[in-house]
Amino acid sequence: MSPINLAIVGVGKIVRDQHLPSIVNNPDFELIATASRHGTVEGIPSFTTIEAMLDAVPAINAVSLCMPPQYRYEAAYKALMAGKHVFLEKPPGATLSEVADLENLAKAKGVSLFASWHSRYAPAVEAAKAFLAGTKVHSVHVIWKEDVRHWHPNQEWIWQAGGLGVFDPGINALSIVTHILPALFLTGATLEFPENRDSPIAADLHFKSGAGLPVHAEFDWRQTGKQSWDIVAETDAGQMVLADGGSKLSVDGELKFSAPEAEYPSLYRRFAEIVKAGTSDVDVSPLRHVADAFMLGKRKFVEAFYD
Ligand code: NAP
Repeated sequence: MSPINLAIVGVGKIVRDQHLPSIVNNPDFELIATASRHGTVEGIPSFTTIEAMLDAVPAINAVSLCMPPQYRYEAAYKALMAGKHVFLEKPPGATLSEVADLENLAKAKGVSLFASWHSRYAPAVEAAKAFLAGTKVHSVHVIWKEDVRHWHPNQEWIWQAGGLGVFDPGINALSIVTHILPALFLTGATLEFPENRDSPIAADLHFKSGAGLPVHAEFDWRQTGKQSWDIVAETDAGQMVLADGGSKLSVDGELKFSAPEAEYPSLYRRFAEIVKAGTSDVDVSPLRHVADAFMLGKRKFVEAFYD
């Protein structure tokens, strides 16, 4: 089969860090164009708008949309209307309704829509899921604490409405939690907003399952020193720690599973799979939890944040 002719829209940090190397090493894809106001990829025809790109390069079969979430819907709408398969970076949109709209449109157009969640493809996530399925889980604690100045320098969009603030990394934790645990719902939350920003710098979230499993999540962007991306479960088979963003699985302090990180190569393998199968893969449950937190959470104003 000939490769899927791919275009990228929104050439920035994640495209350079992850998308480009994953695409180059995947024979199912060939990058044939980009659309970005400033960013380009050496040797690849570039356009400043998605409209110009779709008009000029009809051979495009699929597009990866890697701009901030507030601007994803408009580009996705145009790509789907033009009959292209669409890969959405996480989070898939700024609202649940717009993602539902895209899902319907993809169906109507007979093309694939992929709401990607890269952290679900972290090496030890499947091992954690299998471990938890084989035991009784009593409680879960999610600790996702990082230094925003280090990881998101000069990213203004992330602090604007729709940029999700600390939920930008926190939704990665939620994408793992919704994959490895039974269905949960939020019972209470506190969101901390810097007084000069429209999105939260920290969030404290309490969930439970229908059967009463308590899950406590702490997201914080003010962490200096050691960074934490851990999920800790107390179970009948011991204490499970899924550490380093899903990279390592330990039980009672003993390392059970670890493997080299390959999240984005796995995402592109999955995208090729659904395009070939003529299906879509759109799970909005991580985004729904974030929406619930904005709906149910208490708001606390904290000191102003400056880069
Ligand atoms: P970024 O570098 O700040 O933004 C990506 C590109 O989007 C920018 O270079 C810019 O390119 C374009 N863009 C920015 N503002 C725009 C606007 N108002 N309208 C249209 N295009 C705009 O961000 P990023 O870190 O790559 O993140 C992009 C997405 O990937 C986010 O949803 C993020 O959650 C996700 N992601 C990021 C990481 C990470 O480590 N950074 C990891 C996983 C997922 P032009 O100026 O050339 O248009």
